[in-house]
Amino acid sequence: MNYIARLFLLTVWLPVSTFAQQPGLAQAAMDALNSAMLSDAQVAELSRQAVVEMDAKNPVAAPNDPYTQRLNRIVARHHTVSGLPINYKVYKVPDVNAFATADGSVRVFKGLMDIMTDNELLAIMGHEIGHVINHDTRDAMKSALRRSAVRNVAASQSGLIGKLSRSQLGGLADYMLGAKFSRQQETEADDYSYGFLKRYGYNVMALATSFEKLAKQGGGGGSGVAQIVSTHPDSKARAQRVRDRARRDGLIR
Ligand SMILES: [Zn+2]
Repeated sequence: MNYIARLFLLTVWLPVSTFAQQPGLAQAAMDALNSAMLSDAQVAELSRQAVVEMDAKNPVAAPNDPYTQRLNRIVARHHTVSGLPINYKVYKVPDVNAFATADGSVRVFKGLMDIMTDNELLAIMGHEIGHVINHDTRDAMKSALRRSAVRNVAASQSGLIGKLSRSQLGGLADYMLGAKFSRQQETEADDYSYGFLKRYGYNVMALATSFEKLAKQGGGGGSGVAQIVSTHPDSKARAQRVRDRARRDGLIR
């Protein structure tokens, strides 16, 4: 079982506890520090470090890899989204997943690229980026840090980011991948993606069809439910909501 597969098992069953139990950090006076002291920039920096750790542990597609070239073509106009600079990479693993983090990193998994059209991939990335723009990822990270000893290192007295161990960064990465958002946050991320597709002249129905494909992934009962499905239930209802809105907007009949 590769690292990502094991990571998913952990995140499915132990979304927060594995992270909260990262050992080896001095408690002491630093406990007085409130994680609210962490600025948005610090949360972004912690996210960036966790992504560097994930990139080191996963098979990142090379620049000349056909998957990288396809992704670069798809996102050619979107290296900055709503003012946020985005960096994109492909993980060449079979899992059906993608994520975006507070520092503007987007990672798309080979398994997702294999089943989605270009526009559907944009729709899913738009949804994930929506979580970042709407500060859902930042808030989830802050709430995780509040429950974790990692904050004792992260929020040093001088306000600088302390150095986290690789296992602590791995715990953060684990949490970021397994984070579940509220129904309202999901709806708002869907709306963000819809608006993004519409603004750039893409067919908004790609959002609906991507959900319908994910719904099929969740119903197979095979070796496991795709991660993006387990963190995003109700794919069929979300697809229907997109269709209803597209009809109201006169984009479909
Ligand atoms: Zn979501």
